[in-house]
Amino acid sequence: MAEVTQSAFPHLPERLNGLGEMAMNLWWSWHPAARMLFKTLDRPGWKEAGHNPIKMLKELPHEILESAAGHPDYLRHYDVVFAQFREYVDTEGGWFTEKAPSQDSGSIAYFSAEFGLHHSLPFYAGGLGFLAGDYLKESSDLRVPLVAIGFMYPEGYVRQEVRDDGWQISKDQILDRDSASISRVPNPDGGQLLVAVPFIEPPIHVAVWEVVVGSVVLYLMDTDVEVNEPWNRGISARLYGGDLEQRLRQEIVLGIGGSQVLKTLGIKHSVLHLNEGHAAFALLERIRERVEGGTSYEEAVDQVRSTSVFTTHTPVPAGHDVFPFQLMEKYFRAYWAALGVDRQAFFRLGVHSQDPNAGFNMTAFALRMSGYHNGVSERHGEVARRMWRSLWPDLPEEKVPIDHVTNGVHVPTWIEPKMELLLNKYLGPSWLTDHDNPVIWELVDDIPDEELWQTHYWLKMKLVNTIREHARRRWVEDRVGPSITIGWGTLLDPSVLTVGFARRFATYKRADLIFYDIGRLKKLLNDRWRPIQIIFAGKAHPADDPAKLKLQKIFNAARDPALGGRIAFVEDYGEQLAQYMVHGVDVWLNNPLPPMEACGTSGMKAALNGVLHLSIMDGWWIEGFNGKNGWAFGGGDVSDNRDQGDAEAIYRILEREVIPLYYRVSEDGVPNGWVRIMKESMKSNGPRFSARRMVKEYVEKYYVNALRSA
Ligand SMILES: *Cc1c(COP(=O)(O)O)cnc(C)c1O
Repeated sequence: MAEVTQSAFPHLPERLNGLGEMAMNLWWSWHPAARMLFKTLDRPGWKEAGHNPIKMLKELPHEILESAAGHPDYLRHYDVVFAQFREYVDTEGGWFTEKAPSQDSGSIAYFSAEFGLHHSLPFYAGGLGFLAGDYLKESSDLRVPLVAIGFMYPEGYVRQEVRDDGWQISKDQILDRDSASISRVPNPDGGQLLVAVPFIEPPIHVAVWEVVVGSVVLYLMDTDVEVNEPWNRGISARLYGGDLEQRLRQEIVLGIGGSQVLKTLGIKHSVLHLNEGHAAFALLERIRERVEGGTSYEEAVDQVRSTSVFTTHTPVPAGHDVFPFQLMEKYFRAYWAALGVDRQAFFRLGVHSQDPNAGFNMTAFALRMSGYHNGVSERHGEVARRMWRSLWPDLPEEKVPIDHVTNGVHVPTWIEPKMELLLNKYLGPSWLTDHDNPVIWELVDDIPDEELWQTHYWLKMKLVNTIREHARRRWVEDRVGPSITIGWGTLLDPSVLTVGFARRFATYKRADLIFYDIGRLKKLLNDRWRPIQIIFAGKAHPADDPAKLKLQKIFNAARDPALGGRIAFVEDYGEQLAQYMVHGVDVWLNNPLPPMEACGTSGMKAALNGVLHLSIMDGWWIEGFNGKNGWAFGGGDVSDNRDQGDAEAIYRILEREVIPLYYRVSEDGVPNGWVRIMKESMKSNGPRFSARRMVKEYVEKYYVNALRSA
């Protein structure tokens, strides 16, 4: 490690070598004290580097680093944090070790098409990615022996820019691989490891990168290497791009290539966990390897089933990949022969009996070939059982073996550092170590209302300032017109009740629902004494024009003087903006079309920080809402006009409950009734919707059993 540090950061003084070591492990990203260590070296440098310590350490002038190395205050801070880091990485064993002792690192291979770990690593599109990223961080904290596989997408998802007329355009931005928190995995002769994906002609090669996430390693595959044919080089260029065939090739690389990468690295995993169906071909590789070793096909399938976990994430039909049989034939002819099955038998593995001619359905296939499968909330479990019941024709719906584990968020990542300090003060300094224990959270009641409110208000100001600064920059640098500058949020006012709506712009999420009755909305926005303001953010998929139209509608509303400057649309929603928003708004609004929201996680991030959830009864909120920790609507029967009914419910709750409560303040300016709900939200949701509770559930329900069968 010391050598790596020396060559990667030639300016780094010996005394601060640990900075280089810490920069190479994303541990820094969920430890505010470590982030401060980089930030205080040079604040502008930290900002310029996009909060990426590797880039920063490479670019900082030698004198700045030398001066820090001679600064006693800095060194004291450095020594403390570095010792914590060393303790974290050197400690062997943790919660997991007691559950299933004597497992090797990498016993569980976790495959995902996206990983959302930090905004400097653009390998995510939305919730699925953050779930996977949070899963790795929590697995590291609990010392689950996990190894992860994904893609290095140099172009990431889309960078969003909104034109003057409100139409979203995508902007290319290529990741500088050598300044990101990733490193090349070397091969024995010193170059970067290249692995050929088996069974593809002409061969596809992937270059292998790694990201160290605490004690977990994530290997990323990159097809942009010279030996590949030009059209193969772009396979991993970006998330969810390309046509159906390119998509199939991407999934072949993920599942089959990913398995080959692990094999080449000598990582013997005994359990496979698929985060969504994109990587399901990894199941085929597990079977093929066993058949190759002399096991019968049937026996191999049984072994693979009893050691494979599959998590399905979406009730939206378009979210499940289906590849035409012809296309499958083109790529898998040699493959089914290697398995020892014929064409028909192979295709049957991916048939969804409700639509048998549609093609090879990756979810149906993954459900058939894994012994443990689950949805991501209680409701989604029910929906998935209904959706896939035809795979188990002899069982009644409630007996269909699809279970659920409700998602959770990585608390150290999503708790705001100032809020964390406040909780340290009242819950005790070890609350974070034990944060899935609900008893600890009862102490939230001891926080004086005024202190909690001030912390929240400070976060709201931070959000508003950040948004205004973005608007100001666009005004100055791009000379956008005044009405557009106002649309970016110039007139936001931190004292006004602030509603946040930020997520991917898929049409089922109904981003524009609150505009349903524009007259009624105007009254709320323009109320002289008790106004509300709404901040929107989110990207539409580049091929989803209906979603772009919704975005345009909202952007144009934001510019309309009739709406009082109280609507803002903020560009390029990503992890960084998400952090500001889930910490800083007052109310988190969620109104998808039920039952399309498998779970939802942004509301959990908000609730954890005392931001109150106003949501339709769908996804996790059915489990989370307890009558006193936020607001809910839309649980009843669906009327003829669902949009109208749901929009009216939102107006009614805002008018009768949310607005009066927010503006009912004591003499010292604290809305005590509001703060009571904030506390209730933190207490009830914080421990329960944590990634810690989630990962423990996966371990106890599936991993422990699957490891036993291995
Ligand atoms: C948490 C998060 C999501 C997921 O949001 P939901 O719509 O609630 O599933 C998407 N994008 C970003 C940037 C996030 O941080």
